[in-house]
Amino acid sequence: MWWSILLVLIIIFLIYCFLPSYWARNHSKKVLRKGSAQKKVIALTFDDGPNPNYTPKLLDILREHQVPATFFIMGKQAQRYPDIVKHINEEGHTLGLHSYRHSHAWLMSPITTIRDMNQTYKILKGILGKAPNWYRPPSGTFIILSMFAARRLNLNVAYWSIEAQDWAKDTTVEHIYNTVINKIHPGAIIVLHDNQGAPGAPERTLKALPTIINTLKGQGFRFVSLDEMKGEHHA
Ligand SMILES: [Zn+2]
Repeated sequence: MWWSILLVLIIIFLIYCFLPSYWARNHSKKVLRKGSAQKKVIALTFDDGPNPNYTPKLLDILREHQVPATFFIMGKQAQRYPDIVKHINEEGHTLGLHSYRHSHAWLMSPITTIRDMNQTYKILKGILGKAPNWYRPPSGTFIILSMFAARRLNLNVAYWSIEAQDWAKDTTVEHIYNTVINKIHPGAIIVLHDNQGAPGAPERTLKALPTIINTLKGQGFRFVSLDEMKGEHHA
């Protein structure tokens, strides 16, 4: 009998966890994975913040280079640092949800999953005075319920096409720079982090960023928010 229990568990896992993530990552038309390949536009996205040590410095760099970005915010961090969230918004950047405390969707109970998204949505809406319209799942993982919850809240879902793994312990400023520059393509969505990761990791991201921006501008790329990228993609 044990094998039939195992079989049921595998089927539940496939339907509840694996297939929704696979579908969102590879096929769903509701998900933005990259922009149009016809135009030299790219989007910078920053996950897991805000962080009082790094996000204000990041905002200074973006302002200095006149570059818009999209921030995927953790509810827990937004609660602790609402002024930084407001500051991101005032600087004209786009904000989206990135769960309350970065829990992996596959490891949360169904009820917690829904609560997590609703709670983070409410926190951001309360701080911004307007409804956020983007969601990026932590680690890119979905379950069936989070897929429906995002749709119910009218959230666009964004993945990424270039990951510099700037959170890693053994990376360097040069490696972050090289990864982004080597992988760049029209319509790229670049994911970087202004919080979490290995100790001091966002420091390297901030050091790599100005050169990344200058090089890509030099190559003729224009930086856009995800809102603009989505608009152009469907135009
Ligand atoms: Zn994250």
